[in-house]
Amino acid sequence: MRPLRYARATDVDGAVATAAADPDSAFLAGGTTEVDLIRLGVARPRTLVDINALPLADVDDLGAGLRVGALARMSDVARDPRVVARYPAVAQALLLGASEQLRNMASIGGNLCQRTRCPYFRDDVSPCNKREPGSGCSALDGISRGHAILGTSEHCIATHPSDVAVPLVALDAVVHTVGPSGTRAIPIGDFYLQPGTTPEAEHPLEHGELIVAVELPALPLARRSLYLKYRDRQSYEFALVSVAAAVAVEGGVVTAARLALGGVGTVPWRARLAEQRLVGAPATAERFADAAAAELAPARPRPDNAFKVALAQRAIVRGLTRATQGGRS
Ligand SMILES: Cc1cc2nc3c(=O)[nH]c(=O)nc-3n(C[C@H](O)[C@H](O)[C@H](O)COP(=O)(O)OP(=O)(O)OC[C@H]3O[C@@H](n4cnc5c(N)ncnc54)[C@H](O)[C@@H]3O)c2cc1C
Ligand code: SF4
Repeated sequence: MRPLRYARATDVDGAVATAAADPDSAFLAGGTTEVDLIRLGVARPRTLVDINALPLADVDDLGAGLRVGALARMSDVARDPRVVARYPAVAQALLLGASEQLRNMASIGGNLCQRTRCPYFRDDVSPCNKREPGSGCSALDGISRGHAILGTSEHCIATHPSDVAVPLVALDAVVHTVGPSGTRAIPIGDFYLQPGTTPEAEHPLEHGELIVAVELPALPLARRSLYLKYRDRQSYEFALVSVAAAVAVEGGVVTAARLALGGVGTVPWRARLAEQRLVGAPATAERFADAAAAELAPARPRPDNAFKVALAQRAIVRGLTRATQGGRS
């Protein structure tokens, strides 16, 4: 048995200092990922810094935007009337994730930092470059049905599992942190790192750097956003493909579009190729399909997950169509 030091932080600076002091430390929020990984032997922190006593659970109105505390629980954020009215895709993505019990425990900061559900990463035995750099990737010739088709490398093809990160990427949220080197505001588009040759590096946080809040920017278009999720069963399951979409149409022509995908990318995937095709185009199913095809053209599927190419294209068309019809998922 490995000894584990438990430290309960009472202020942000103390949490950062305690975590930074031990290179083998980890933060503990709701624990719905971290405790699982410790039990599986995949995470082996020597010090666990419990951050639940920190005053980071509020959702603050910034006037136009919202600032969601890192310890705000998924279920609380999903039901916040300001989130529901101004960022419906965020509320929908939260409610379509995990289960009610998990959502009551799980925090927004923890959700963004959750690890992949790749079974080889979680079994603590198979070669896995993300868990054990340089050991190989068992998914390349193994089971890869749930794996990524965009942003992959020969070192890792795991998807990022978060639902809520998908609309956050579409809407250009900002991740606020406090770390040993000070405070940072990281655009969420820069927060997730594609695997390349270093799949063990998933985000740019330095060791001991704490997410304190996620800012939802002022974006009128977000009021008409939606989130669709396709999975093997209708609840308590991760996405095979998901779509966050928001579209503005004037005179039958798309004037603005925000689109991101889950379940298909090694990171929550901003569909910029599709967005570029959409703006200025007629808001028709044909043009939506054309944009979807452009986004999926660089896909590199495995035999197990080739179905995701067509599924993602159909999901994009459906998401865009519904977004133009009033934004209900
Ligand atoms: C059975 C099951 C089904 C699930 N289904 C879904 C699903 O469909 N969709 C989905 O999106 N998610 C799903 N999840 C994942 C769930 O949403 C995450 O486990 C949860 O959001 C993590 O939040 P937490 O507060 O419990 O984080 P923790 O488990 O406490 O922490 C997770 C990671 O984040 C780090 N961390 C936590 N807070 C911070 C912070 N403020 N700053 C920096 N690092 C931090 C921790 O050190 C740890 O590495 C599922 C989980 C389970 C167990
Ligand atoms: S896909 Fe990534 S996480 Fe899964 S076995 Fe390969 S390297 Fe590990």
